[in-house]
Amino acid sequence: MNRSLDHTTSLRIAIQKSGRLTDKTIDLLHGIGIEFDNYKRNLMVKTRNFDVELLLLRDDDIPEYVQDGICDLGFVGANEVFEKNTRVNVLRGLNYGNCRLAVASPKDSALVNPSDFEGKKIATSYPFLTKRFFEDQGISIEMVEISGAVEITPQLHVADAISDLVSTGGTLKANGLVERFTILESETKLIQTQQALSEGKQQLIQKFLQRIDGYQTAKKSRYILMNAPLSSVETIKALLPSMKSPTIMPLAETEMVAIHSVIPYDQFWDVMEQLQDAGASDIVMLPIESMIA
Ligand code: ATP
Ligand code: ZN
Repeated sequence: MNRSLDHTTSLRIAIQKSGRLTDKTIDLLHGIGIEFDNYKRNLMVKTRNFDVELLLLRDDDIPEYVQDGICDLGFVGANEVFEKNTRVNVLRGLNYGNCRLAVASPKDSALVNPSDFEGKKIATSYPFLTKRFFEDQGISIEMVEISGAVEITPQLHVADAISDLVSTGGTLKANGLVERFTILESETKLIQTQQALSEGKQQLIQKFLQRIDGYQTAKKSRYILMNAPLSSVETIKALLPSMKSPTIMPLAETEMVAIHSVIPYDQFWDVMEQLQDAGASDIVMLPIESMIA
């Protein structure tokens, strides 16, 4: 047996072959130290330094491959996981590929609230989620199932409205459609099969998750360095939203210290101004590759 295909020892992970999730998923895998190449030409890629093989698939197929245990893990949008109604464990939300499944109708249409849609035709590639959304509210709609270019159907009088994925809303606008309400908020999820896994694979998944958590925390954090007068240290310490106590080092110049800390990126700019007011100078912010708490 070809060892590279021996699924009992390697963790097999499904990712989208080519599409909106591909680059970010590859970046994440590289970011957590998993090395591989040639993913564009192959359907199965063996990684060089981690006991993992990648299976490159259409995103629609990923939930079922994971549910059935053909793959142990998968990176795929929540929209696909829930549309396929698969039984998988969602391990992490990864905050990329963010979008929503929303209902939109032509801008001059009277179809605004869910109740307006009774008996109307809705075109979608997400029949399961769309039908369930309306059914839950006791509204019956006529479903027009379409696999692509859903946004054109109202102009062609194929449907009265659509239910489709939206991120910026640009495509809707270009087709004279207005977003009315959301059925599902989506982001990329890391999912795991519910099939039994060997001890070895379970350990590998724990290691994989620890790396992902480290990578995600690092992405949200910045390393911050500054100089400050000794007399300001207590004020500055109180201002820093650090995860840990900051590092304080004496400088050659007496009465001055260097302060190093890790802070959440989204608080950097607010804090920076307050640090300046408190006497800090030469404030430097650096990205962090990864961190393990
Ligand atoms: P495949 O060939 O793999 O089936 P696809 O055309 O179905 O590709 P993409 O358009 O690459 O899929 O979208 C993949 C995923 O990206 C979606 O399932 C969704 O989770 C996410 N996504 C984020 N924003 C959008 C958007 N504006 N439109 C569609 N998908 C989006
Ligand atoms: Zn798809």
